[in-house]
Amino acid sequence: MFDKILVANRGEIALRVIRAAREMGIHTVAVHSTADADAMHVRMADESVCIGPPPSSESYLSIPSIIAACEVTGAQAIHPGYGFLSENANFVQIVEDHGLTFIGPTAEHIRIMGDKITAKDTMKALGVPCVPGSDGGVPTLAEAKRLGEEIGYPVIIKATAGGGGRGMKVAQNATEMERAFMTARSEAKAAFGNDEVYIEKYLQTPRHIEIQVFGDGKGGAVHLGERDCSLQRRHQKVFEEAPGPCITAEERARIGKTCADAVAAINYAGAGTIEFLYEHGEFYFIEMNTRLQVEHPVTEAIFGVDLVQEQIRVAEGHPMSFTQDDLVINGHAIEVRINAEKLPEFSPRPGRITQFHTPGGLGVRMDSALYDGYTIPPYYDSLIGKLIVHGRDRNAALNRLNRALGELIVDGVDTTVPLFHALLQEPDIQTGNYNIHWLENWLLTNLQG
Ligand code: ADP
Repeated sequence: MFDKILVANRGEIALRVIRAAREMGIHTVAVHSTADADAMHVRMADESVCIGPPPSSESYLSIPSIIAACEVTGAQAIHPGYGFLSENANFVQIVEDHGLTFIGPTAEHIRIMGDKITAKDTMKALGVPCVPGSDGGVPTLAEAKRLGEEIGYPVIIKATAGGGGRGMKVAQNATEMERAFMTARSEAKAAFGNDEVYIEKYLQTPRHIEIQVFGDGKGGAVHLGERDCSLQRRHQKVFEEAPGPCITAEERARIGKTCADAVAAINYAGAGTIEFLYEHGEFYFIEMNTRLQVEHPVTEAIFGVDLVQEQIRVAEGHPMSFTQDDLVINGHAIEVRINAEKLPEFSPRPGRITQFHTPGGLGVRMDSALYDGYTIPPYYDSLIGKLIVHGRDRNAALNRLNRALGELIVDGVDTTVPLFHALLQEPDIQTGNYNIHWLENWLLTNLQG
């Protein structure tokens, strides 16, 4: 059992982890930059350590400072949250070399899934369906053109070291291939210092469906169904729901079992998400995230489990507290990510919050690190909070979301709340009829300044 864990993160996710730990009787250590001295996670933790100046590279990403903070406070384990160091295999190695526990998967699993070609090869070998494409990297334009003909246009050229939607280019036909191939390579080189690219069939109207998995690190694993995260702007998710409006119980059981078996086979430990594009009833693996995701609360709502407590339990070497048979879906949940941004251009609006009131009532959860008088610093993301609603069915969840958004008060900065009010009026959102391009198209016609 851990007596004390350090949370290597900030904002709402740091609070999320502190809350889970406190309920388990575990003490918490917050780390913070000088810009976050007054942050809520610092106030809520039992202890706190300042680890550097405002830029993340010198604080939340500073491995020596975080290890030193563990040593001075006697924390035995580190929860990385999401972002920052959560998928940094080198960090995990260093944590373990210092005799500390990383609350998450092994460095090896993070490394495998961080390289997109290795991840895809691994998943394919484990029986997970993948997007048709090249076997590994594509070194020359001639090879790219040959593959374009073989796979069939349109195709997408993606960086092996990719992330954040960078280094991806679509070629509609052979003429476009030359430019797309060269641009993808040079963008990949500039962004990741590695110009290796691979090619996939470009799916035109898919949905983004991801499967939550959980492994005990000893060959046991379960799935917790899917989340539909198709509503995206610039590849950033803004609205997520579970279960997916278009997924049947049979499809869920089939793809869920495939995913659970795959992670069980590699002795995966803790929470993970296997992301797919879903089109015409078929799933196509795109990547695996080896961490807790921002949108994990919708899964928690419909299954009634605490994924962070489960991560801690498994990191302590305990068995999982549920089996596949225990995991029964109850109702429907939706999360919206509310940012301090000015519409219609979504430009970040850090600043002082003069009034803050969060909605409440049955089936409403607001994960936020804001408070009255707090100043959102300009150095980090612009997330105000995640509003999660849970209802008997999808319709009840939509009505509850509408009601809860109406109760939320955030004064002092611009927010993306009006976007969600507008989306809730759309018949396609009401019926769940959307794909990964829906929101971008809608924004073009509905939110022009
Ligand atoms: P990243 O790690 O950079 O986010 P992903 O592989 O997860 O890259 O892809 C990000 C997004 O790009 C997907 O959610 C989807 O919108 C789009 N995309 C990726 N691969 C394909 C594909 N084969 N066909 C169509 N769209 C794709």
